Amino acid sequence: MENKVPTDLAELPIIDMHTHLAGMGHGGSGCWVSSGKFNSIMFRALRWNLGIYGAHRTGNLDQTYLDLLDKEVRTASASGAIDAAVIYAHDRIYTENGEASTSGQEIYVPNDYAFACAERETMRGRYMPAVSVHPYRKDALAETERCIARGAVAMKWLPNSQAMDPRDRRCFAMYDLLAARKIPLIAHTGGEHTVRVIRPELGNPEVLRPALDRGVTVIMAHSGTRSGAFDGHWMEQFCKLVREYPNCWGDTAAFCTPGRIRWIPRMLREEGVVEKLMHGSDYPVPVTAWFALRELGWNRVRELNSIPGELERDVRIKRAMGLPGIVFTNPAKVLGQEALRRWLVSNIR
Ligand SMILES: [Zn+2]
Repeated sequence: MENKVPTDLAELPIIDMHTHLAGMGHGGSGCWVSSGKFNSIMFRALRWNLGIYGAHRTGNLDQTYLDLLDKEVRTASASGAIDAAVIYAHDRIYTENGEASTSGQEIYVPNDYAFACAERETMRGRYMPAVSVHPYRKDALAETERCIARGAVAMKWLPNSQAMDPRDRRCFAMYDLLAARKIPLIAHTGGEHTVRVIRPELGNPEVLRPALDRGVTVIMAHSGTRSGAFDGHWMEQFCKLVREYPNCWGDTAAFCTPGRIRWIPRMLREEGVVEKLMHGSDYPVPVTAWFALRELGWNRVRELNSIPGELERDVRIKRAMGLPGIVFTNPAKVLGQEALRRWLVSNIR
């Protein structure tokens, strides 16, 4: 497929706004997963589901995972489901003193790895890098500047797990920088199960008000929704903020999972909310339509679940559930033409 630079924003490519890179540092990627996390039931299940349960023994896990992701994106792209994906770095936890924390760290994906993947000759045109810079780092602004210069399309934070309080004054200079350079902040909201939560209350979208007030385009990952039975649920606060701030958005990451699919019909009933949502899968989180039997019926669910590609299945289920086309073109609209040009995202629509 030939990559064409988009010239007309009316023809927007479909971008999956939320996918994760991961690795163990094999091949010099710099990625890291703690042994506790790697061997946890959740990660064992993820590795099993991806078919890479024993891949670390070959010393090639990082490339194996990347190949899987790229196969998914190629398959989804060939079917017309998506054109490109935003890939996430994940910063370390930093203490109140701005030092890298020696405890609690479970995963790390360096910013340079996200760039290296998106820049790779064999992958170019399908990926856009989102970086992760902890705002308490002493070099937070310098690192953010460096990443923006290299083409970062977004900043990704996981406040409740990376131990950063978006209300902390130390974040404000970063907000001003992101607002001035028109780089969106993707911040996790709602419950979290993949990595350990240190401060659950930071899943409340309300904590992002200072960023919104300073003009940052904020994309609330998971739109404030609960995933399990007992974790935080702040969909109401999310809907309120989305209506109040033109620069407030939400994503649909992990919405096709047992814990979150119930929120799609609820979102559709909320006035002025669906048009502020943007598609994101949360790859490698597994996708299923089983928990939408009531809405879709047995035959449709079986048909959707038989789609082999996870990323394609995610798009098809969301569309079948009634999420309108704008949800799938919003990422390109918010990321902007400059970012699309920079990463040569193919515009085949
Ligand atoms: Zn995620």
